Amino acid sequence: MSLKGRGAVITGGGRGIGKAVARCLAEAGASVVVSARSTNEIEAVAAELKADGLEAHAITCDVSDEASVNAMASAAMERLGTVDILVNNAGIAPSNPVKRVTLEEWNRVMGINVTGTFLCTKAFLPGMLERGWGRVVNVASVAGLRGSRYIATYCASKHAQIGFTRAVADEVADKGITVNAICPGYVDTPMTEYSVTQITEKAGVSPEEALQHILATSPQKRLIRPEEIAAVALMLCGKDGEGISGQAIAIDQGQGNH
Ligand code: NDP
Repeated sequence: MSLKGRGAVITGGGRGIGKAVARCLAEAGASVVVSARSTNEIEAVAAELKADGLEAHAITCDVSDEASVNAMASAAMERLGTVDILVNNAGIAPSNPVKRVTLEEWNRVMGINVTGTFLCTKAFLPGMLERGWGRVVNVASVAGLRGSRYIATYCASKHAQIGFTRAVADEVADKGITVNAICPGYVDTPMTEYSVTQITEKAGVSPEEALQHILATSPQKRLIRPEEIAAVALMLCGKDGEGISGQAIAIDQGQGNH
């Protein structure tokens, strides 16, 4: 129970990676808030955790909206007492060749993936600074470490999220707070199911062919399990992660070495 007594907020906690991170941190003893726009999904996650005897709350929030983030932050602090751990995981990943990307799509991706990370960090960092202890984990992507065709907007947002991670980590390096990014390759979540659907529709291929296209980026020829991301998040939040900050940790099956 390495996180006993810690309060943790996980954005995008209603499904996929966020849901796995919430369970992993709660099983390590943290009291968790799961947050997202879909109230039904976060309530279901919180109910599942509570049914297993863990402490969990659901608070609806759109991370791209400052008023919504501030309201979520107040409610989270009220329910948890203190928020010591923030996992900025909420994100979206539309794909399009850059000539077809609309300004609306660009702004929506930046608003959620980048501004959302900024707003949530800004909301919870003062409490961490006051107490001299905090962990911020940003779920970025391998798309934050290199470029790939048809996801220029997503790549730009994830590069920005990693730049933000490094700068804030430096700013709080001597304040008992660590800030890191986790950079997965394709993970087995609804987001990847959506990517398969997009490739199927846009390239006119079957879902099996679309999945093979995705797996072609994977040296181990498999999707990463959400629990693999959660295990790294837990390590970063626990005692043994104390010395790691400002890092962008790839979980990509060695893809980056090719
Ligand atoms: P999912 O689509 O499965 O889940 C995304 C979560 O984010 C949902 O709970 C969603 O809920 C929430 N979310 C989206 N927009 C907002 C918003 N404006 N405000 C609050 N919550 C929001 O995605 P994954 O679990 O796959 O991805 C999680 C993170 O991991 C993302 O940042 C993604 O970029 C990153 N990632 C994913 C990879 C993958 O292959 N799946 C690979 C690398 C990185 P709701 O829509 O109800 O708000």
